[in-house]
Amino acid sequence: MAAKTKYIFVTGGVTSSLGKGIIAASLAKLLQAQGYRATIQKLDPYINVDPGTLNPYEHGECYVTDDGAETDLDLGHYERFLDTPTSQSNNVTTGRIYQSVINRERRGEFLGKTVQVIPHITDEIKRRIQILGQSGEYDVVITEIGGTVGDIESLPYIEAVRQLKWDLGENNALVIHLTLIPFLSAAAELKTKPTQHSVKTLMESGVQADILVCRTEHELPEDLRRKLALFCNVREEAVIQAIDASTIYDVPNLMLEQGLDTVVLKRLKLKSSTPDLTQWNAFLDRHKNPKSEVNIGLIGKYVELQDSYKSIIESFIHAGAANEVRVNIESIHSEHINPKEVAMRLSHLDGVLVAPGFGERGIEGKIEAVKYVREHNIPFLGICLGMQMAVIEFARNVLGLQNANSTEMDENTPHPVIDLMESQKNVTDKGGTMRLGSWSCDLQPGSKIAQVYATNHINERHRHRFEFNNAYKENFESSGLKATGINAETGLVEVVELPEHPFFIGVQYHPEYKSTVASPHPLFVEFVKSAHHYSKISNNASMSYQK
Ligand code: GLN
Repeated sequence: MAAKTKYIFVTGGVTSSLGKGIIAASLAKLLQAQGYRATIQKLDPYINVDPGTLNPYEHGECYVTDDGAETDLDLGHYERFLDTPTSQSNNVTTGRIYQSVINRERRGEFLGKTVQVIPHITDEIKRRIQILGQSGEYDVVITEIGGTVGDIESLPYIEAVRQLKWDLGENNALVIHLTLIPFLSAAAELKTKPTQHSVKTLMESGVQADILVCRTEHELPEDLRRKLALFCNVREEAVIQAIDASTIYDVPNLMLEQGLDTVVLKRLKLKSSTPDLTQWNAFLDRHKNPKSEVNIGLIGKYVELQDSYKSIIESFIHAGAANEVRVNIESIHSEHINPKEVAMRLSHLDGVLVAPGFGERGIEGKIEAVKYVREHNIPFLGICLGMQMAVIEFARNVLGLQNANSTEMDENTPHPVIDLMESQKNVTDKGGTMRLGSWSCDLQPGSKIAQVYATNHINERHRHRFEFNNAYKENFESSGLKATGINAETGLVEVVELPEHPFFIGVQYHPEYKSTVASPHPLFVEFVKSAHHYSKISNNASMSYQK
């Protein structure tokens, strides 16, 4: 009989944004590197059924899985660290929990009973936590509880953890509490009191933390660890310091040095060995020791927000390491680009990525940017809306189709070169109704995109309602913009490219969701390579000009 799945719960105390996702992903990485099959799940205490309807200002990037779930961006970290796909089961929200309980109530499944938070909501939470474990695919399931202990909306989750810890028994479940040890500069002291309080709050709900992971800007001295252990009821070895790191990819090694994996495995009565991080460390080495650098412009409308293009930024880190170059990303607000200033904003760049997005704001700037890079042979990658902008730009400026547009932006455009997908025409609900998840795509043999992937058949993830309008396809192709990736079932254009340009590719899908440390995405790798090449020739050109 396969060994029982073990459960690790990660809660947060003192403040939000301590990086529970990174700690969970780092621990999972260390377990995976010792041969354990580990997965991570995120429970989000908000009422939205999923983050798909949330604005990036509220929630950062919406990460999409193969099975088409619109999820929290922490799932992106899980995939990037572990190189294994996640699914709908890896992200559950309060909205989804209540929705399934209420649906069951409407079907009469509770047989006349009063439906209550305890036991019905907590049972549903427990069921969702155990789905991954019961699949038989994992030795360890790490469940991250969103929010901070003490929040009203976290209570049912903490209660579910309390019950599960009890149900599963001593060596089968444990709780890691991630907390903050603030440094008071006036007193030049690290303070443990907020942590004592948050551990106590957790205990009021009947949950004893087994391990404390302490975020700190300074090394935790021995006596402070002893004090924390004493006041918080944990062993001294279970007080783990998580000092600020220069890159999130350092955290697995930092946790290894602190022995987080050993403490966890000992508590769960699992064998521990030295994790094999050879590949991981080789990546880190390349990431930290680049031989040269490139400047890439990221054009979007949420550029002031760190998290809104998370997967794109991480993909550049993977691709940079693969090319041994540092990728400097310059975030450029699309509303700041206009015909007068476009050269000033873009001419120094070695590559330009036009980001995904929704709605009209900033699109004229994106179109202007595409025109500039197309005419100046600067490497270009357009993702989703970015691809659609490339199509509109070509229609307006090369095909001469005045006011060509997407019907998303202008319903009455005379030339709807991007149009609502047929399958979307009767859709009225906004949540979970886009074309989502993994779809196959055939690449035209010999095309640039087929060279990039070194194959003619790919699967990539999607999140959109609008598409390239095939009525214009011949017109585009005869003037040089080729549709080189097609979804065979629907005929939908997934890739456009300009064969005459050094690198000009637009993709309707989102390659950024599939780039990981172990498998950097080929499209980003080749884009960075091409930007690097461009930087060398443009440097040479300016040097000879200076002579
Ligand atoms: N708004 C566009 C669409 O729905 C593009 C979506 C995106 O960039 N993810 O088709």
